[in-house]
Amino acid sequence: MKISRLCWICNINIADTAEHALKKTDIVRAYGKGSYHNLGEKQPIHFKNGKQTKLQGANSDVIKNPKDLCK
Ligand SMILES: [Zn+2]
Repeated sequence: MKISRLCWICNINIADTAEHALKKTDIVRAYGKGSYHNLGEKQPIHFKNGKQTKLQGANSDVIKNPKDLCK
């Protein structure tokens, strides 16, 4: 089980949310809103540490940092 970290800003609450590593507005500008499933061959693919993941949408967890903030 993953140990929960504390929010790095308030240092009180459990970190239960994450900041975007890539800015959501940039992703939306490039690919639009909603699900990227039906973009077919144009569905964006995220590469990190040799792993590739099809991007499901601008709110996908793969483009966020690990959870380090409280909501
Ligand atoms: Zn906090």
